[in-house]
Amino acid sequence: MVLSTREKARILTEFLEKRYANVTYPRSTPFHVLIRTIISQRNRDELTDEIFERNFSSFHHPSDIAGLSEKELIHLLKPAGLYRQKAKAILKTCKILSERYNDEIPRTREELMALPGVGGKTADIVLSYGFGEDVVACDTHVIWISNAIGIVKSTDPDIVRKNLMELIPPGHRKMFNIRAVAFGKEICVTSRPHCELCDLNKICDYFRSNFLKKHKNKEKNNIA
Ligand code: SF4
Repeated sequence: MVLSTREKARILTEFLEKRYANVTYPRSTPFHVLIRTIISQRNRDELTDEIFERNFSSFHHPSDIAGLSEKELIHLLKPAGLYRQKAKAILKTCKILSERYNDEIPRTREELMALPGVGGKTADIVLSYGFGEDVVACDTHVIWISNAIGIVKSTDPDIVRKNLMELIPPGHRKMFNIRAVAFGKEICVTSRPHCELCDLNKICDYFRSNFLKKHKNKEKNNIA
C-alpha cells in the first residue's frame, strides 16, 4: 500500500488515540512536570514515579527547592541515574526560577531551554503536559516509530519535531508523545519491534524493508 506521509501520520495518530485512549499524563502543575521530567532523563518510569512521589511531590514552588543544599538534593534523587548532574541542574534551575521568574515557570520553549538540565524534549513536555499546549515532544520512542513507519527520515530530534508538527493534525499533537511511548513499550520496541503483532504493518516501511526481508532470508536458510 503506497500512502503519502501525511496519510500515514493520520493513520498512526488515529491508531494511537484508539489503542491508548486511557493513557494519560498525571494531572500536574508545570513545575511538577518540569521536575519530574528532569528526574526521568535516562531513568525507568517506575523509578522516576517512585522518586518524584516520595521526595519531590511536596515541593510546590521552585523556592522550596532553591533553599536546599546540593548534598540534600543528591540524597533525594538517589538512586536515579545521573543523580549528581540532576541535583546540580535542578538546584540551578530552581534558583533561576525563584530569582528571575518570581517562582513561575516560563511559557516559551526558548526560555525553558535556557534552564540548566532542560533540552528540547523536556521543554516540550512542560509545554504540553504542564501548560496544555498542542506540541509534539520528541523522545526516542517518537523518533524510532516515526522513522520506522516512514513519516520522517531523520534521527535529529529538531527535524523530527518540525516534521511531526506539520504532519500531525492540530489538536492531536499534545498526547502523541505519551501514546507513542506506550506503543513503543508494548509493540514497536526500539530496534526489535514485534511487527508480527502490529496493526500498522501494512503501512510500515520498516516492516517491508527489514522485518519481511529478514524472515524471508531465515526461511531460505532453513530450506537450504
Ligand atoms: S510494523 Fe513493526 S516497525 Fe512498523 S510500526 Fe509496527 S511494530 Fe513498529
